[in-house]
Amino acid sequence: RSSGRLVGPNLENGGAPDSKNLRVKLVLLGDSGVGKSCIVLRFVRGQFDPTSKVTVGASFLSQTIALQDSTTVKFEIWDTAGQERYAALAPLYYRGAAVAVVVYDITSPESFSKAQYWVKELQKHGSPDIVMALVGNKADLHEKREVSVQEGIDYAEKNGMFFIETSAKTADNINQLFEEIAKRLPRSTAQ
Ligand code: GDP
Repeated sequence: RSSGRLVGPNLENGGAPDSKNLRVKLVLLGDSGVGKSCIVLRFVRGQFDPTSKVTVGASFLSQTIALQDSTTVKFEIWDTAGQERYAALAPLYYRGAAVAVVVYDITSPESFSKAQYWVKELQKHGSPDIVMALVGNKADLHEKREVSVQEGIDYAEKNGMFFIETSAKTADNINQLFEEIAKRLPRSTAQ
């Protein structure tokens, strides 16, 4: 079945079919300022650098991880960097995405509402079997917390999403986020 999803054998190694090497398109969504770029830079470069912005356009950052069963997953990470405001771009952005990571800031209830808006958009425009993660970022700012862990859990559960709180600043749960996503990818669709 060809649903246009970007999960499949890695054709870069001579085109040899190898279902153990997956490459997936991952899109990031969430309010501006919740830490999307910082999460990606922490994951890909192991750094926290709030001044460095991920470039947009046709380019993306990629990072490969190995799972315990020797599967490798190459994430091709797309960051809207604000372009999500242009609704017309949305379908283009979601197309072929096997994974969507919806981020909010645990100190901002507005960003949590916005995350819920993006989840609805994904349910409308995304692939029906897209793997969705809900991420409460800036977990290091617990003294300023305004969205409880339980609210995140409840919303994620209702919408069939994986939930995790992260801190791009301290690196807490950043690798775990991507590892958990990798584990949830449907292997059977590789072709
Ligand atoms: P984006 O617009 O969603 O891509 O957000 P950025 O990645 O540019 O981050 C926005 C601001 O939030 C930056 O200035 C960072 O300093 C800050 N930030 C990002 N992640 C964290 C985090 O985990 N903890 C804290 N305390 N600040 C963060």
